[in-house]
Amino acid sequence: MTDHVLVINCGSSSLKFAAIDPRTGVAALTGLAERLGSPEASLSARLGEDRHGVTLAGGGHEAAMRAVLDVLDASGLTTRIGAVGHRVVHGGERFKSSVRIDDAVEAEIDACARLAPLHNPANLIGVRVARRCFPSLPHVAVFDTAFHQSMPAHAYLYAIPHSLYAEHGLRRYGFHGTSHRYVAAEAAQLLGRPLQDCALITAHLGNGASAAAVLNGHSVDTTMGLTPLEGLVMGTRSGDIDPSLVQFIGNALNQSADQVIDLLNRKSGLLGLSGLSNDCRTLQAAAEEGHAGARVALEVFCYRLAKHIAGLSAALPRLDALVFTGGIGENSAWVREQVLARLGLLGFAVDSAANARCVGGVAGPIHAAGSRTVLVVNTNEELLIARDTFALAGV
Ligand code: ADP
Repeated sequence: MTDHVLVINCGSSSLKFAAIDPRTGVAALTGLAERLGSPEASLSARLGEDRHGVTLAGGGHEAAMRAVLDVLDASGLTTRIGAVGHRVVHGGERFKSSVRIDDAVEAEIDACARLAPLHNPANLIGVRVARRCFPSLPHVAVFDTAFHQSMPAHAYLYAIPHSLYAEHGLRRYGFHGTSHRYVAAEAAQLLGRPLQDCALITAHLGNGASAAAVLNGHSVDTTMGLTPLEGLVMGTRSGDIDPSLVQFIGNALNQSADQVIDLLNRKSGLLGLSGLSNDCRTLQAAAEEGHAGARVALEVFCYRLAKHIAGLSAALPRLDALVFTGGIGENSAWVREQVLARLGLLGFAVDSAANARCVGGVAGPIHAAGSRTVLVVNTNEELLIARDTFALAGV
């Protein structure tokens, strides 16, 4: 019985995979191949309580995918895989929803690589290798950007000469769409009303972070832009800055624009401000022990987030719930409390006991009586990829 989807998330030197039953949401197998292309390349997999480790010594994505096949064979899962779902970062304006992959779609994903030069080529390697390893199965691409294609022009246009959009596609696209779409649907269930009748702000706070305004199941604005650098403060990304900073930092450090953008992506955010770590948990512990950098980094993080949530309210006619998700959103009661404390003007107040309870996988409401609704929801991007894949593959 082909009741599982193999979900693939392929990075430049890594390949994350999971075999998921889209109906139950249970992942029979999960795993990660890392440091691909290096002598330390390896694959680890988890099958129920069992863990497998394989060295791939110098192996690349093809070797990793063959090793995934071996693990599937050894666990008797191969014949249960009915389709393969691929996470693809950028679908440009071409892809407004998930799609069955054929050669033409592959070529179009390749064309979108112009907008995501670090991500789409790596995603495509995964697609090509998987299509070679599983030639008889349907393959589906699920895009991070697709959910935000419903944003109106006033939300996606930058106020720069219009020809830059019309001729070069330079506009806001938004990312984390799979997570925002998943948690919006989960939030609607918790609210007990149809998604088609919900006005939500979803805050996905992981290493990368973005918030979105979701009206009746459609994204109407989000905080990330042309690239994931825009918007909220993140683990290593600055989020919003004055664009002139690129020139000033370049002059100060004698660096090119490319080098400055790299600094803004990889050495900024919580890491840059704290001088300590990009990890929220580490920073919370350090701040408690009096680390001034950790404290200020977390304060900037929470303030910027509150400011963006308030800003996104302009995209909605009303607000039925604010939703926290992602590693920080699902686990940091402290961050949620700080953010909600700044949103009193919008009618938010936290219930500290409920907030403290909603950690480590516990979902639910965390607002005080009389407050607007605030929910903690556990995201599951792999499950949404598996569901889309099953639906499009028709298995
Ligand atoms: P990614 O974007 O890589 O998928 P995650 O969604 O796993 O990241 O989120 C990682 C972030 O979640 C890290 O900053 C981590 O410190 C934070 N986090 C996880 N658990 C906790 C916790 N108990 N308290 C505070 N932050 C947490």
